[in-house]
Amino acid sequence: MSLSQLARSICESPTLKMNELAAFLREKGEPVIHLGGGEPKSKTPIDAIVSCSALLHTGDIKYAPADGIPTLKKAIIRYTEEHYHKVVSADNVIASNGAKQAIMVALHAILDPKDEVIFPVPYWVSYPEMVKIAGGVPIPVAAEDGSFCPTIDEIAEAVGSYTKAIILNSPNNPSGVMYSRDFIAEVVRLCEKKSLYLIMDDTYNRLLFDGKAPVNCYDFVTENIDSSKLILINCVSKMYAMTGFRIGWTIGSKELVRAMTNIQSQQTSGPATPSQWAAVGAINGVQAPIESLRLTLENNRNVMMERLNAFDGVRVTKPDGTFYCFPDFSTYEKDSHKLAHFLLEKVRVVTVPGKDFGMEGRLRMSFCGSIKEITEGIERIKWALDPKSPNELYLGDRKLVRNWL
Ligand code: PMP
Repeated sequence: MSLSQLARSICESPTLKMNELAAFLREKGEPVIHLGGGEPKSKTPIDAIVSCSALLHTGDIKYAPADGIPTLKKAIIRYTEEHYHKVVSADNVIASNGAKQAIMVALHAILDPKDEVIFPVPYWVSYPEMVKIAGGVPIPVAAEDGSFCPTIDEIAEAVGSYTKAIILNSPNNPSGVMYSRDFIAEVVRLCEKKSLYLIMDDTYNRLLFDGKAPVNCYDFVTENIDSSKLILINCVSKMYAMTGFRIGWTIGSKELVRAMTNIQSQQTSGPATPSQWAAVGAINGVQAPIESLRLTLENNRNVMMERLNAFDGVRVTKPDGTFYCFPDFSTYEKDSHKLAHFLLEKVRVVTVPGKDFGMEGRLRMSFCGSIKEITEGIERIKWALDPKSPNELYLGDRKLVRNWL
């Protein structure tokens, strides 16, 4: 079959692949524990359901404007004012099918063939592939000291004549770390100085722990919204646990938003209207579900850290936010794909290989499930890897015998 060069160069999303594998095994009755997931367990906020149902009850569900319904744009404008102290107009806002489409359309709007896009390692798995789909060249920048955040000098060194944009995601998927205020300020300054786009992916910035407050990128922007190249991405997916609704949005200059609207109008049209009304309900409604989710995740994070810290040979950095951590298992196995498949095959625990996030020897482990899943999942991993563990483990009434170490 003759598929395009592009199709042949794009990898399957490893997180979605792991989800599929886990669902397949579960369907066969296997006792799978999913520590690879990227969505909170909580239910959709009631205000979102009420708002969405009100539209459904009219039976009048039609196309939406390509950049989103005015009521959602209004809600986003108010959200931006409240959380970023930034006044923007409807021309600066476009709603898309999730943060994923928002980033993808933004990249299509700014990249010419061979343009380079820089992002720190570790990075969200989709950035390299999205940049490639838009015809660009992904330039991951790893910290020389092996930490989760390169220095501003390391980022600046990667900037060349083809650089068009930098993407920052803080707090970060997969490491959970929040970049420092100074680092974000310096990246904003660098982008202004070099006239680069800066895509700030704030998908997780309401899910922070230990009393930490999100860094507001607009604090450092000196240009006005319509001449600034800052592109701010948000979504309802994680903070309101509304991954299935597929609503994300972009704040940017009028010129960028117009270009993105043209692209989106030819690509998918506006996002589904019931989803947009659900997002209106969530954003304008009672905000308690975010705090409730945040508290649950902080508690889950603490349990996961306690268990991983008690795991000989595993090193882990405490996440500042998100629902992921990115422990180093290299004393047991350096090849993260091998390790993730081994754990799924032997003890039915799903994790995501670190290699797909740009760092070998690590696994991304999610703590958005239940405490039972976290503790039992880590116990199974420990049993599978640690030669000091007893030789047998029961999964329900199934006896496993360790015959591989
Ligand atoms: N950015 C990051 C860093 C993410 O982790 C995700 C989802 N995993 C997204 C964007 C996409 O979010 P959405 O589901 O709204 O498309």
